[in-house]
Formats: sequence, structure tokens, C-alpha cells
Amino acid sequence: MATKKTAKKKASKRAQKMVYFFGGEKADGNGTQKSLLGGKGANLAEMALIGLPVPAGFTITTEVCTHYYENGRRWPSDLQRQIELNIKKTEKVMGAKFGDLENPLLLSVRSGARESMPGMMDTILNLGINDDVVEALAKKANDEAFAYDSYRRFLQMYGEVVMGVEQKASEHHDPFEAILDKAKAKEKVDNDSELSVAALKNIVAQFKKLIKQRTKKDFPQKPMDQLRGAVDAVFSSWQNDRAKVYRQKYGIPAEWGTAVNVQAMVFGNTGKTSGTGVAFTRDPATGQNVFYGEYLVDAQGEDVVAGVRTPKPVKQMAKDLPSSHKQLLKIRTILEKHFKDVQDIEFTIEKGKLWMLQTRNGKRTGFAAVNIAVDMVNERLITKETAIQRIPAEDLSHLLAPVFDADAEKKAKLVGAGLPAGPGAACGQIYFTAEAAVAAAAKGQKVVLTRQETSPEDLRGMIAAEGILTTRGGASSHAALVARQMGKICVCGAHDMKIDYSKKTLSGHGVTLKEGDFLSLNGFEGKIYAGEIPTAPSQVIQALVEGKASAKRSATYKKFAQLMTWADKHRKLGVRTNSDTPGQVKNAIAFGAEGIGLTRTEHMFFEGNRIDAVRQMILAEDDAGRAKALKKLLPYQKKDFTGIFEALEGRPATIRLLDPPLHEFIGTMTPAQIKDLAKKLKVTPNFIKHRIHSLHEENPMLGHRGCRLGIVYPEITKMQATAILEAAVEVGKKAKKGKEPKPEIMVPLVAYAKELELQKAVIDEAAAEVRLKYGLKKSELKYQVGTMIEIPRAALTADEVAEHAQFFSFGTNDLTQTGLGLSRDDSSSFLPAYQDAEVVNNNPFAQLDQTGVGQLVEIGVEKGRSSKKNLKVGICGEHGGDPESVKFCHRSGLNYVSCSPFRIPIAKLAAAQAALEDKKK
Ligand code: PEP
Ligand code: MG
Repeated sequence: MATKKTAKKKASKRAQKMVYFFGGEKADGNGTQKSLLGGKGANLAEMALIGLPVPAGFTITTEVCTHYYENGRRWPSDLQRQIELNIKKTEKVMGAKFGDLENPLLLSVRSGARESMPGMMDTILNLGINDDVVEALAKKANDEAFAYDSYRRFLQMYGEVVMGVEQKASEHHDPFEAILDKAKAKEKVDNDSELSVAALKNIVAQFKKLIKQRTKKDFPQKPMDQLRGAVDAVFSSWQNDRAKVYRQKYGIPAEWGTAVNVQAMVFGNTGKTSGTGVAFTRDPATGQNVFYGEYLVDAQGEDVVAGVRTPKPVKQMAKDLPSSHKQLLKIRTILEKHFKDVQDIEFTIEKGKLWMLQTRNGKRTGFAAVNIAVDMVNERLITKETAIQRIPAEDLSHLLAPVFDADAEKKAKLVGAGLPAGPGAACGQIYFTAEAAVAAAAKGQKVVLTRQETSPEDLRGMIAAEGILTTRGGASSHAALVARQMGKICVCGAHDMKIDYSKKTLSGHGVTLKEGDFLSLNGFEGKIYAGEIPTAPSQVIQALVEGKASAKRSATYKKFAQLMTWADKHRKLGVRTNSDTPGQVKNAIAFGAEGIGLTRTEHMFFEGNRIDAVRQMILAEDDAGRAKALKKLLPYQKKDFTGIFEALEGRPATIRLLDPPLHEFIGTMTPAQIKDLAKKLKVTPNFIKHRIHSLHEENPMLGHRGCRLGIVYPEITKMQATAILEAAVEVGKKAKKGKEPKPEIMVPLVAYAKELELQKAVIDEAAAEVRLKYGLKKSELKYQVGTMIEIPRAALTADEVAEHAQFFSFGTNDLTQTGLGLSRDDSSSFLPAYQDAEVVNNNPFAQLDQTGVGQLVEIGVEKGRSSKKNLKVGICGEHGGDPESVKFCHRSGLNYVSCSPFRIPIAKLAAAQAALEDKKK
């Protein structure tokens, strides 16, 4: 007899809900349950709840997927029972029965992760047909061709996806397609839909034979066995190669798993009053408020997205299927009002009745994201706060990407035109397969992936390419969808062009291009040109940086500017720039930088002929020799800083003292340069070679660099501090009140508080001499001294370091290098393998390792402020321009982030998003 305890345990196990029903204006779940039901399942439930016509069905939760992988790919014990229960409910609403021989219900089985992963996982349609059901289906629909066509489609999908029948290396063609092509040739027809019933029956028989031959198993006739196989296949597809690549690119954790949606089939391939389509409630490429999509009469869903048949624009539905079109327009408004975002929908019309198969927030380009968000605020559909939070900060980079130079484009040779599916300008060398594209990109080439149509298999190639061109398919084809999401420039469905895969050529308008030839794509207008077209800055850049009036009037710029004002109002983090020259500083200010967070002084050492003086300084054998060289360098540096202070107009400037090892300035000299320098310095070439040799380090990144240089050669620090402060005094004299320079001198690579103390003493000494030289009182020359925190020891002893610092700036490039013991310069050889193996989700040099290196940042902030309460803290590593890292900086209490000029808008938006996320808590 079961004890009370075990009985209770059993009951609770049974009570665990694994399957959620939807249909007939009812649903067990709702739109908020995306992590449990996946995006598709949650929204099907939500659509049912708001009364939209959704074919009934049920969702098997993502928790079941997790259980499946944790238990050797086995189902939880109660799953079968819950599925059967929900099939009954589905049957009731749809008025048909699964496996019935009079009125059969067919099912679709689809994946549905928390975030949509278009086309990456598997789908099985028309499930539930067998040798008997097909006859019942024929009778019910009074259409034998339809029934057998559905059966052969099902056999092919099931054979491939569930039973693993694949094209062999020795085959030129998919074996199912080969059978189909033979049948078409025999009957002399072009389209599958023109095949006779006899031919379809024969195909069905051959498909079953093929499955048996290849798998040594019979195709399962029992509908419930078919369903079990399909559910397993969908779960398994979570771990297929495509899904893994996609997860990596978008940082989707492997633990999330996918839900499985099982839903009653409705048929768009049942004659002239039927059809199927996909649409967006607004244009996802530009953001324009127009109903945007396409459909096919007498077709099943896959036909539209596969890009094989070119669909018609949804506008034409008003003529072909007027009442469904009208209903769809109404649903468009209902959906936007309900979900308060652009929806990407799939629909099917079966004999005049409209069914909604899916809705999800539409993926969009950066252009569309900004346009839509700002428009929706103006339409009072969403708040400004929602608008800020909705735009992926990284996507602003689309608005900053270059466009073609207008004059050059006019002169270029047009070779084709297609649908503008991904805006922007791209040029590169054409490659016809994803593998070739990846290989060429790895060699540093710019690539345009050129395909008749793309499939999820091509994902790696699409990631590697600058632009994507397809000659078939519409605006919702796979290529368009994925390109849009990645922000790739894409022209699709260029029907006036022809690809010959065997010859590796692309031709159009009388021109034939070979693999490796250059091609240019205008993704705004869908135009395709032979050759390379020079690019020009985007409208936003033209308006901001070049101050062009026409660009300032453009809608894109206006909306971008509007969004930035909203972001500025909400963000708490300051945003500074990493800039080394007055020109860069001016650009950064145009983008809204509030000061400089990092000037790498050594970047100016290579300009003009000053490198000679730098090399003289390095080669000097004694203090006197070094002093002579430093005297030469001082005016150069002073001039650089003068330009920077002028460009800043009173904004703060963090200027870092010399950081790289000295070897870097002489190690790359050619014999001719050595000879030339020897002559100038009146030394022998051998002497220089000897010095190069003696300065060589095995591990320069951890060698004599950073403040270690200044400790050994304080005169270098002193020269740099003098140059900075003299420039500040001289610019300050001419500046308007309140606009005087605000120098912040930063000491790099500090590990010990004592290092900073010593360097600060040198800087203070330089300041005292500058005051004397210019006859200034102490209050008349203000500056700050601070340090970079880029060595773990400095973070761990930040309380001691802060005693001598007025500010900290996290150098997370080196902090990642030293914190992970991972070379910045060498890690690219093995990091991709680490990403493949999902050891790391992202490159830690691009996105801060929050759990590890992040702790060093948090400790540094906390300890630093424990000894200096108002310590100013920023970040100047590359992570300062990465949205996720910026959000982390906000949460860690930093005062500002600093990034390259072009990433400033991105950092600002991410900072505003972080502040709003805080408010929500
Ligand atoms: C850093 O280490 O994060 C940094 C900004 O310095 P650099 O990249 O010049 O080493
Ligand atoms: Mg560094």
C-alpha cells in the first residue's frame, strides 16, 4: 500500500502541468508565459483569449524539453496522458478526430523557443495521415489530389526530419525531390500542383519505399506514433547545428529549451478561395506605417517562406480574397492595439475562412526600430520609456552605417534589381555557397553571399557576409528575415538575374560576373551593381558630424535625434569618448560625448616625423640623452593636447600617460629605417640593433609597460604632465569663462598603491613648475590625478589605491586579459572553439564577463569608495560601448562609460535602458 507521503508525491507529479490548451476563444496559458510556453505558444494562447480565430491545439512546455535532455531523451511519465487529453479537447473544438476514418483531424507540430529563432528548428505538417486516413481525407474534402498531395508532403517532411533520410554525398539532389522531379518530367508538368492523382499515389508509394530502404524501418502508420516521433524530433532540433549557431550569435542560453506546439491543420491549398500568407503590421525594413506582407492563393505556408514560389504583395488580396483581406486589416489594428508593437503574423484561409496561425513581435532593422518606436509614441500607443527600452541599442549602428556615394552610384553599372529587404550599402566579392563565403571572409575579404534562395543552412555564410543577394523569394523569405535581424544589407528576389551554380556565375542585364568579382548592393532601393561603389556617410552622420542641412531635415535623422533626447533624459551614466585627436573629439562631441574618457597619448607618437624623437628617447643610454629627446617631444605633445582641449570647449579630458612597452616603437623598424635613424642620431646601425635586441621582451603585455615605464623613467611622466598642463594653461587663457580645460591625468597599469603615489608626486612636481613658469596661484591650475584599474591587484586593493586617486577608470581590456589570464592578442585562435563548445557565450573582450571580471569591477568600486566616498569611476575598455556591459556599469554604480565616437549613441541608449530597468524593480 502506498504511504500517505508517496501518494501525495504521485499526485503532485500528476498535477504538474506539462501541456497547455488553446482554441475556441479559451486558453490555459497566456501571452506573458513565454519562458514556459515559448513565444509562439504564449501568443497563440493570447490570440485565442482575445477572440481571434486560432486553430485549436496545445503547447508542450519548455520544462518538458529540459526534462527530456536531463533524462536521456525520455519523456516525463505523465506527458503521454496529458497529450491525449488535449488531443480530445482539440478534437472537440475543431469537430474532427485524430486518426478518424470519417472526419480526420490533422496536426502540425512546431518548435517555439522563448525567443523566436526563425527556421532554425524543425516543423512537421499534415501529421496524422496514413494509408487509411488519406482515403478518408479525400472523401471529406471531396478531393483526392489534395489528400494525396498532403500525404506526400507529410511523408517527405517526416522522412527527413523525424526519420533522418538525407541526401547522400554521392547524390546531386535530395532523394525525395528526385522522385518528385521524375514524376513531373514523366507527366510533363512544371508544378507539383499539376500532378495527377495517379502520379501522387505513385509518389507516396515510392516515398514509403525510400524511407524503408534508407532507415530499415517502416513509416509509422499509427497517428499517435507519428506524433511521438515528431515531438521528439522538435526537441532534438534544439541541439542541431543551425540552432546552436543561432543561439551563439544571439546569446540565447542552451538551458532555455524549446516548447512544442501541436495544432490543428488548416489548409490553404484547397482551391481558389484558399491561400496563405505572412505579413507585418508595419514595414519591418523602413518602419513605415503600412500593412506589409505577401500571400499565395492555393498554397501551404511553407511555400511562402521557402522562397520557391514568389508570392504577391498583400495589397492584392483585396482583389483575390476581399472579405478575408478586410478581416485581416481589422485584425492588424486589434493586434497592434493589444500587443502594442509591430506584429509579424502568419495566416491561412481555408475555403474563405481566415485563421491566424501565429503572431509575434516583428523583427526589424535599426531604421525601422527607431521609426516605429517614435511613431508609436506619437500615436500614443506606447510611452517614451517603452520606446527607449524597445530598441536594441546595438541596432542604432544600422543608422550610422555608410550609404553609397550618390554620384558614384549614378555612374555604376546596374545589373539587376530586387526587393530592398535590408537597408544600407554593401559591396564585396561574390560567393555562391555559405562555405565559400565563410572561407573568403576568414581571409579578410568583404563578401556578398549570392544565392538563388537562402535556407537556415546558410546561416554561417550570412553572418560572414557584408551583404546578401537572392534571386528568388519575397520580402518574407528566409534571407530577408534573417538579414533584417542581423542588420545585414540584403536584396532579395532579384528575378532579372540568373545564378549558375555549376559555372559559379551571376548574370543580369547582359553582364556575367564570376565568383570573386565585386558586386554592390543598395539595400534601401533593391538595386544591384557590378563592381565596387564608394560609400558615403549615413544621413545621421551627415547631419551630426558634417552638419548638412538636407540631412538634418530627413525623417531618419529627426527620429534619431528625438530618441536621443529621450535617452539623455533618463540615463544616469555619463557618456564620454575614447579619442586621440582633435578630429575624433569633434566627431564624438557631435554624437553627444560629454568629455574624453581616454586619450592614448602614444597614438600621437607616430604622427609626422616625431617618431624620430620618440626613438631617440628610447635609444638614449643615459639621463642626459633622454632629457634631450624629451625636450624635443614636449612641444609636439603640447600641440596635441592644445588641439584636444580646444575641441573639448571645457569638457573634461582624461589623458593617459604612456602605456605600451618601448619596444613597440622600435621593434618594427626596417633595415632602411634603422640606417636612416642611425645617421640622424649619429650612432651606428649596430647600436640601434643592439638596443632593439636588449629591449625585446618575451611577454611584453606583462612586461615593462604602463606606469612601470614612468617609475623607471620618471622624466617621461614629467614631460607628459608638463605638456598636458602647459597646454591646459594656454588654452584656458583664451577660453570663455567656465570653458577652461579640465585635465585629468591618468596613470596606467597600476597594481600597487605605491606606484600611483610615486607617479602622482612626479605629476605634482611638474604642476608646481608650470605654475611657476606662468606665475599662477594654486587655484589657477586645477587638474586631477587618477588611475586605470586594469590589474586584479589594483581592484582588490582599491581602497589603498584610492588614497592617491581622484578618479578610477576601469581598463577592462587589460582587466579581462589579466583577470582571465587570456591574451588579448592571441585569443582569437581558440575563442571561436570556446564559443562553439559554449564555454563562453560571447567574446569576453567584446562583452564584459560579468560573473568573473565583473566582480573585480564591483570590488574596485566598492573598495575605492570605501576610502574615498565621492571617487569618480568610469570605464574606458572596449566594453564601454557594448550595450550589455554598459548596463552592467550602470548597475555597478559607475559615473560614466567611455567609448569610440561612433558607439556613443549606442552607449547612451543602453544607459537609458539600464536606468529604466532600475525603475521597474
Ligand atoms: C584597457 O586596458 O582597457 C585600456 C583601455 O587600455 P588599452 O586598451 O590601451 O590597453
Ligand atoms: Mg590597458
